[in-house]
Amino acid sequence: MTALVWFRRDLRIADNPALAAAAASGQPVVAVYILSTNNKASIGSASRVWLHASLSDLRESLLNLGVDLIFQCGPPSEILRDLCAHLRVSALHWNREYDPAAIEDAVAVKRDLGHEVSCHSYPSRLLAEPFNFKNKSGNPYRVFTPFWKTLFDSAQAVSVETIAPDWRQDRLPGIDSRLEDLALLSGHPWEEKIRKYWQIGEVGAWRQFDTFLEGAITNYDEKRDLPAVAGTSKLSPYLHFGEISVRRIWQRLLLGMEGFEFSGNESAVQGWLRQLGWREFSHHLLFHFPESATQALNPKFANMAWLNNNELVSLWQRGQTGYPLVDAGMRELWTTGWMHNRVRMVVASFLTKHIGADWREGAEWFWDTLIDADMANNTMGWQWVAGCGADAAPYYRIFNPTRQSEKFDGTAEYIRRWVPELTALGNKEIHAPSQANLVENNISYPLPCVDHKQAREAALVRYQSIKS
Ligand code: FAD
Repeated sequence: MTALVWFRRDLRIADNPALAAAAASGQPVVAVYILSTNNKASIGSASRVWLHASLSDLRESLLNLGVDLIFQCGPPSEILRDLCAHLRVSALHWNREYDPAAIEDAVAVKRDLGHEVSCHSYPSRLLAEPFNFKNKSGNPYRVFTPFWKTLFDSAQAVSVETIAPDWRQDRLPGIDSRLEDLALLSGHPWEEKIRKYWQIGEVGAWRQFDTFLEGAITNYDEKRDLPAVAGTSKLSPYLHFGEISVRRIWQRLLLGMEGFEFSGNESAVQGWLRQLGWREFSHHLLFHFPESATQALNPKFANMAWLNNNELVSLWQRGQTGYPLVDAGMRELWTTGWMHNRVRMVVASFLTKHIGADWREGAEWFWDTLIDADMANNTMGWQWVAGCGADAAPYYRIFNPTRQSEKFDGTAEYIRRWVPELTALGNKEIHAPSQANLVENNISYPLPCVDHKQAREAALVRYQSIKS
């Protein structure tokens, strides 16, 4: 008999409870990755590039352990049923996921196979399981600070499971399948461009984490808002695809804080762990309010009069709004598949408030172009900025894109990197190029697509109208 590991967004060997349990069972192990055809499970273009490379990396690592990774595409319960019959599987192991499509898939697998095969699911993606993490009144948390306090205290003892370092089996042939059959890549030159910026896979994840621990974490508090600086971990795609586990990170840092490994600035570490807390919060919100992926959490927003201006949205997508920080962010996104958090907030505020577009339009664009596109984080991020989510920014907070630019990119290093046509402008005028003499400087850069003051006032009127 065989043990089958169903890989999902846990594309790693280390601290993978499903793989560890299968290995410990003593049965020969086979692994499968299924590109689910559940229509709620779409994957954006940038994520497909990442997924392809990550699966290729995982296949190599598993082969080194003597485990075949099979690639299939379709409804997971049907595919797993066929595989279980074909490979004489007695136990199926997987790690739990919390977005609506992943839950539906897992429920169907348990329902359809549970009476034939022993099914085992494990916590792995989060520090705390959303279904039994509630506030004192027994309800899901909707406010971050108390959520974080409880999480921090309860997750102190989180444990990681790992397969024995010397575990290895004689290779058991699986079923002929090719990663290419998943057709994740389209062949567009954009794909190569994105790959250039990242070392995709488990080794890359650990390298990224180690680099962060050796350097930027020490100044995380001061530098995390500066987009020109490598002041954050850039671990978001690795965490999304599960190439590194939040539990391992947590353990390592808490050990570090007790003086075992890390000897840096403790408040910076706390500040960074808090970001992992936001990730956790977003996953809990999506689990308890699955409709929030498409509907505002605040019901008043059902009546919001979002504006429909495709031309302005297209300028935003292409980084041609005439606001340098917004354009720099949108171009960074298009080129690398990633954008700095401060700039994500600014561009999202610009789209929903200055342009007046529905937050879902922005979330969709991010979904397609971010390599870390994550339903929980993306939904919470957009709803937070638009003011319609849990613990969201107040509606009257409308970022002034020029002030944000002066404050967080004072020397315009970030702007010059992504909007090179403005390089010749001085550090003062570069934040508001429309006030400089662009023609005289031979600079081709658009005028602001909307006037900040007018757009702000119009947004306040729209937001006020739903308040009443
Ligand atoms: P660090 O600052 O090093 O933080 C460490 C980790 O904590 C991140 O990798 C991430 O997993 C988590 N984290 C940090 N900030 C947040 C946050 N505000 N909310 C939730 N988790 C957080 N993050 C995604 O991973 N995927 C998304 O699709 C996504 N969409 C966003 C959309 C908008 C409009 C906004 C405002 C934010 C979005 N974020 C998203 C959150 C955040 O911008 C990124 O997680 C962060 O920029 C990733 O960079 P980092 O890994 O260097 O973060």
